[in-house]
Amino acid sequence: MDIYKVGDKSKALCSFCKAITETTFRVRTVPLSSGKGRVEGVLAGVCDRCDRVLSIPQQSVPRIKEQIGTKRHSLEARIPQHLSDILNLACHQIGANSASEFQAILIKYYIRRILEASLAKKIHKLLESELSSGKSDSRISLKIDDAMYETLVIALERLDLNQSELLRVIAVLVKHEILDEEDEEAVEDLKKMATVA
Ligand SMILES: [Zn+2]
Repeated sequence: MDIYKVGDKSKALCSFCKAITETTFRVRTVPLSSGKGRVEGVLAGVCDRCDRVLSIPQQSVPRIKEQIGTKRHSLEARIPQHLSDILNLACHQIGANSASEFQAILIKYYIRRILEASLAKKIHKLLESELSSGKSDSRISLKIDDAMYETLVIALERLDLNQSELLRVIAVLVKHEILDEEDEEAVEDLKKMATVA
């Protein structure tokens, strides 16, 4: 495989200039062919005449694939402040260096687990609990990849919840399992994740 450096020269057919033109490899933000989104920091062959991206070398492909496979969806919801505090407290209790970054990992961990029979059967009771209630004025937002998004959609449908209700339930679960240390396995799992995060 040829590895190109910034500034290397090549040639390509430019459909805009309608000619074979000289190209220079430069770092560019390139649009995805699907039209949905752009990838920053991609080495690309750029037409010397019209400055358009003409080619993407093999070495840039993983960077683009990674972008396609991850962070395509977002989970956004508002939950009561005290539930948001619970999530933050749990991140600190687990020993995460950055509570704001670990919060996303914590939420995803529970999205993956939410359909476990032992949890699923108590979801609606948790949602109706006193702890779950309150004015939703704290915004939660995280990026999720395709696989997690699929898991989320299935969970919401099976449990008949919307995103905000799901996050409320997760926060209540976190209160019981992590803050009150009722689930040692969950605490241990998350501590392990915190050391590699
Ligand atoms: Zn051109």
